[in-house]
Amino acid sequence: MATKAKTEAVGERAETDKSPTAVDEERERAAAAGVPKPAGGAEVSNLDIVRFYFDRAVDRLELPDDVRTVFWTPYREVTVQIPVKLSDGRIHTFSGYRIQHNGARGPYKGGIRFHPEVDVDEVRALASLMTWKTAVANVPFGGAKGGVNCPADQLERSELQRITRSFMDKIEKVLGPTRDIPAPDVNTNAQVMAWMMDEYGKLHGHTPAICTGKPIALEGSYGREQATGRGCIFMFREAAPQLGLSPADTTFVVQGYGNVGSWAARILQQLGAKMVGASDATGAIRSDEGIDADDLATHLRDGGQLTEFPGTEVISPDDLLAIECDVLIPAALGGMIHEHNADRINTKMIIEGANSPTTPAADQILHEKGVWVIPDVMANAGGVVCSYFEWVQNLQHFRWSEREVNDKLGGIMRKAYRDVSARAKEERISLREAAYLVGIERVVEASRTRGYI
Ligand code: NAD
Repeated sequence: MATKAKTEAVGERAETDKSPTAVDEERERAAAAGVPKPAGGAEVSNLDIVRFYFDRAVDRLELPDDVRTVFWTPYREVTVQIPVKLSDGRIHTFSGYRIQHNGARGPYKGGIRFHPEVDVDEVRALASLMTWKTAVANVPFGGAKGGVNCPADQLERSELQRITRSFMDKIEKVLGPTRDIPAPDVNTNAQVMAWMMDEYGKLHGHTPAICTGKPIALEGSYGREQATGRGCIFMFREAAPQLGLSPADTTFVVQGYGNVGSWAARILQQLGAKMVGASDATGAIRSDEGIDADDLATHLRDGGQLTEFPGTEVISPDDLLAIECDVLIPAALGGMIHEHNADRINTKMIIEGANSPTTPAADQILHEKGVWVIPDVMANAGGVVCSYFEWVQNLQHFRWSEREVNDKLGGIMRKAYRDVSARAKEERISLREAAYLVGIERVVEASRTRGYI
């Protein structure tokens, strides 16, 4: 992560001007110069996507409008200014957000995203998704999300550290181990969590339970880094028999070979499955012979470009989605599967590693094509479940082995899948609709029992 971007698209200007406007301009220039760009997202926003699924579930549950308003609007929104002098000598003013959506079931919980496209609406959408996700997984947390609109992949490590510390200084008042506990998301990782914990500790004393996804050396949990990807594969194992898939004969494609995507790929490969396509922000590759998931992860970790991975054919990011396979794992950003590309998708199962990768219009198309979609709100809950384990261990300054963590993760993910699929069967609805029903009902019940509503 915290290295300078390696693509030509970054160009000379971005080296000296890292403001969101400059990044946008740079993208436009790169497009004009014909530099290949990653697959585009939908025009519909993450907020529209989550709102659609939420409204559909609330209608089905026949909740009154006043209750709908309580559960749609966030409890607290914090927007902060982050002025940071970067290595070009100029002060860059970024915006940081922490949005706490609902805390009826426990402390707020949700990741921190560093990305130029982060804005208040995106963070609102992701915060509410966390509320339903923690409820579906049945871990005792509410939902929150945070983000800073900085181009993380173009910043020096020291610049990232300054942004992270400044952000923590400004939001620490609404955080706390019994209040709100951040975690990693896009372009943030264990190192960023370590800086956050350290900054919080300057004011409050050593508090490892202030965030999760920390390095193992700083009371991080074994298995946390892999947990979201591993959770996706627990879901695959539950669903595969229903579709007549056996792991050893399964082919799969990963969109977004980052933390979630690469771990899902490596764990699915351990079961005998074969990866036939992969992409990241720089491009996409395919090989019918198979792409070794471990070797690709090592190649990227060592600074290689995805499109230079040996033995593969470079394809357009849009063509990646059209590869015939048994399982497609979108693990990049929101809105990547939309009405203009859903029809080309040629898979039996989609496991949504990313948050909000599928727009409602695309969801309908996939439903009509008979694709089995395991939705984000349950599929990628493995991260927050393992964060829950990390938090529990931190509160007790105690540590479980990786095997214990993975076993406990499997138990919770299987239970979530079974709860949701039983509801889907009972009401003859999709897993997505059923997951929202299960999640919303649990949050409403907790809020009523507390006397919050
Ligand atoms: P990451 O930064 O490690 O990886 C993101 C990957 O997506 C990178 O490889 C990046 O190059 C790629 N990408 C970005 N734009 C792309 C594009 N247009 N086309 C193809 N690839 C593109 O982030 P992550 O933590 O793996 O998160 C990925 C997704 O999973 C996000 O939607 C995130 O919200 C979700 N998620 C993450 C966690 C977690 O524990 N990290 C938990 C739940 C959900």
